[in-house]
Amino acid sequence: MKKLLSILLSAIIVSSFAACTNNTDKSSSEVQTTVAEETTVAEELETDKVVWVPYKEYNLDEDSEVKNIILMIGDGMGENIIKASEIVKGDKLVMSSIKNQTHVTTYSQSVAEGKAEFTDSAASATAISTGVKTYNQYIGVDAEGNPLETICEFAKKLDMKTGLVDRHYVSHATPAGMAAHNTYRGNYRPILRDMLKTGVDVMFGGGEQHYKSSKGTQSDVEEYGYKYINDESSLLALTKDDSKVLGMFSYDNMKGASIKPTLTTMTSKALELLDNDKGFFLMVEGSNIDVCEADEDMQGTLEQMQSFDQTVDYVLNWAQDNPGTLVIVTADHETGGVKIPENATADDINDSCFTSEGEHTNTDVLLMASGAQSAGICKEDLIDNTDIAKYMRKVLNESHDK
Ligand SMILES: [Zn+2]
Repeated sequence: MKKLLSILLSAIIVSSFAACTNNTDKSSSEVQTTVAEETTVAEELETDKVVWVPYKEYNLDEDSEVKNIILMIGDGMGENIIKASEIVKGDKLVMSSIKNQTHVTTYSQSVAEGKAEFTDSAASATAISTGVKTYNQYIGVDAEGNPLETICEFAKKLDMKTGLVDRHYVSHATPAGMAAHNTYRGNYRPILRDMLKTGVDVMFGGGEQHYKSSKGTQSDVEEYGYKYINDESSLLALTKDDSKVLGMFSYDNMKGASIKPTLTTMTSKALELLDNDKGFFLMVEGSNIDVCEADEDMQGTLEQMQSFDQTVDYVLNWAQDNPGTLVIVTADHETGGVKIPENATADDINDSCFTSEGEHTNTDVLLMASGAQSAGICKEDLIDNTDIAKYMRKVLNESHDK
């Protein structure tokens, strides 16, 4: 019996650690069943599977003016990892139900000048947010280092509310590019302070270290009228009276299923707080798709895709009930050089599909758009990431009279 127990235990340990070097963001209860109490090894393996939200189609009104924009960015989510996920799932992802689709070029100014092979998340976020190409590592500034108007600053000018939700640091490259200005993405504390100064209404993610270790950040939180929270129960207790909130739910990156709240929980609370007559801009990032791809860990990547697609499902349902919402689902770049063998089955989707030694690539990414004025952004077969910023400004200018 003792021996059987130890076999069982080691199987559990191996299966736990097999997933993304234990750094996963398994957000559904189904994929958290790795540590079961009294199951057999066979049952254990049976439950150690990625569980996907069932495919369905939504009916979003496309004709209304754009009141709200929800921009969903799968970090490193190339088209092939979507296809790979669908092979493993045995069905389409929820995001694939979105009929308006186009492709997006992601190269940065560094790539254009031959100084880099591919964009990083900072330059790409800046392009998506401001409509201007810049160098890798740059956040919300042009290639000369001059500050650009970010999408959050633009939305605030129109009296809209703004929100940023991710599973990495609150001031990590992608959310930072939506609201801050800095010539080095690694300046997490100054970037966080800049985001507070910008006045983003709702910011949820990880990186509590950047708050705890910075007296300046703490006084900014007070000065700019933010409520600071760091656990799920405080998140769930928030009401619309809490007009400005900084939520940091992990000292570091929010890797791992044990770190709550999930991306979907954070997103649902953000939507509740942001919804108002003048509309809002919300960016939601599936941050750790890229992290797992960089580790060439397919199982972990698939779990991240499952989590992100679950949040897409939540957002599409919300937008269906709230006409005037434009939902854009895209990626900042491809990571991992994912290749799928011909006629691949689920067994062929494994670590060997990664071909770029964990690096980003220059491969175009997909953009899917649903809801208000969503067809317009997909009129051309190929757009540039700067066109996303331009389109968001165009439709918001049309609907929000100054
Ligand atoms: Zn990225």
